[in-house]
Amino acid sequence: MLEPNALFAPGRQPLTHAELRIHVTRAAAAIRRRGFRRDDIIALILPNGPEMATAFLSVCGAAVCAPLNPVYRADELEFYLTDLPARALVIGGLPESPAREVARRIGIPIVELSWSENDAAGLFRLGRLGPGDAKDSIEPPGESDIALVLHTSGTTSRPKIVPLTHGNLSASARHVAASLQLTSRDRCLNVMPLFHIHGLVAALLASLEVEGSVVCAPGFLATSFLDWVAEFQPTWYTAVPTMHASIIARAKADRARVDSRELRFIRSSSAALPRQILAELEETFRVPVVEAYGMTEAAHQIASNPLPPGAPKPGTVGRAAGPAISVLDIDGRSVAPGTRGEIAIKGPNVTAGYARNPEANAAAFTSDGWLRTGDEGMLDDECYLTILGRLKEMINRGGEKISPPEVDAILLSHPAVAQAVTFGAPDAALGEEVAAAVILREGMTATERQLREFVAIRLSHFKVPRRVLFVESIPTGPTGKLKRAGLAERLGVSFDAPLSATHKFVAPRTPVEEILGSLWISLLETETPGINDNFFYAGGDSILAAQFIARVCDTLGVEISMLSFFDSPTIEGLASVVEKAIAETSIT
Ligand code: AMP
Repeated sequence: MLEPNALFAPGRQPLTHAELRIHVTRAAAAIRRRGFRRDDIIALILPNGPEMATAFLSVCGAAVCAPLNPVYRADELEFYLTDLPARALVIGGLPESPAREVARRIGIPIVELSWSENDAAGLFRLGRLGPGDAKDSIEPPGESDIALVLHTSGTTSRPKIVPLTHGNLSASARHVAASLQLTSRDRCLNVMPLFHIHGLVAALLASLEVEGSVVCAPGFLATSFLDWVAEFQPTWYTAVPTMHASIIARAKADRARVDSRELRFIRSSSAALPRQILAELEETFRVPVVEAYGMTEAAHQIASNPLPPGAPKPGTVGRAAGPAISVLDIDGRSVAPGTRGEIAIKGPNVTAGYARNPEANAAAFTSDGWLRTGDEGMLDDECYLTILGRLKEMINRGGEKISPPEVDAILLSHPAVAQAVTFGAPDAALGEEVAAAVILREGMTATERQLREFVAIRLSHFKVPRRVLFVESIPTGPTGKLKRAGLAERLGVSFDAPLSATHKFVAPRTPVEEILGSLWISLLETETPGINDNFFYAGGDSILAAQFIARVCDTLGVEISMLSFFDSPTIEGLASVVEKAIAETSIT
């Protein structure tokens, strides 16, 4: 009988479950032999793909893994590496990443991880780890040891560290597998980043829990998604609503490939799934769409809608699917069904508490052990949960979470800024987008562009405010704290982005759009992009965006800024900026 496969990846031989176990066990033992102990934190930065999956499993088998987003800027990396604090950085690929330089500067040993495209998916080699000082007899971690630490947005500019034990992770993986009725025959197409809890637990660990398989894509590429579906015949995938929206747009233009699928269901989590996208997804793929609710502190899954024959309720995130759920009033008392309150959770998948942060723990945990999620919601008579709002200071930009105080702190470090308040503004495609209101110091000046550029150098592209408004005063709450809630409405900020469920695939039409399309193809190695495809959902990140803009400027002989591309990261948007720049050049 053929050995069942565990990991697949585009262009690679699959890796069987037996090979995966041997590789991960050996790599973990190698890490332990070099003197890393169970409670040492090892930061991991790799591109999305099968090696990220196996490296994560290997590091967890020896120490505590801290996966970091490869698009982080130098300042962010310095903060995270120091705050953890990381004892080593395991990094592979990503030649443009500032991480190596930052790690060297702050004295964190670097371990290079490498692989060959000829090897089976996920096999890697670890570079020198420095002189080892331990025998292989150091015990591997157990259920109650921390496996993973992730930063989450805090109420101050300092993000909180969420430690998750092996027990938390395996409980959550089991909960996901049970709610999706996963079996060893299931194959997940993973497009979610593996530095985030959604991809790690729902796609990777839940699949491995049932000896199923995972196709490890290099990230979300709207243009390649249907190719992967055709090539690997996954039985399911999990993603955030913005990804579903771009998939629908592509799928509508390519019905033939959509029909040749083995899909059993589609899962959505990490941000609210608009009903229209749910309906269009179900109609396009003719499979049930399951909306789930997750959170880093819960090792991902909290609630999930059921698959048939269960009765899903669109507009809700389903029933408790892991931890117990309660809705609390302001005094921490459980409220009756139909009453709005703060969603709280308790169970084997929930973190025991934030690391080194007694203040945050005192605020988050009730005396009887419920963790307040900071989300507002309501349970109905049948225990289905509806998310109604958010009490915590967090912007949910299509599933990417931004902590407003972190952006405030950067704006405030600009010499001309006296006060700054970052807030979420409604966005047609992303749900929310980042905006900021600023009061300038007397006698000082700064333009919106200067401030946005100032932030863009220091923070990842998804945290840069799309609008900065100059105001005379900022409303404060009763305690004198700056009031973010309601600011978007008050200041009239909202965004009508081009990416939506209804956007249709339109091929480049003008000469400039065609040139931009071919530069895009050569950089992202994709098929022809639609003029409304979002660069950042087609596989681009801030580093690739900088290269793209440099190539556009070289090829077309114009000067354009990164920020104008961030504002409208589509061929159509960029073409209009380029055409304007060409017109201005020819006038002068
Ligand atoms: P993270 O820790 O990045 O997984 O983010 C968790 C937060 O994402 C939750 O506290 C919610 O605010 C939000 N979230 C997750 N799933 C959903 C959903 N299905 N609908 C609305 N918000 C969600």
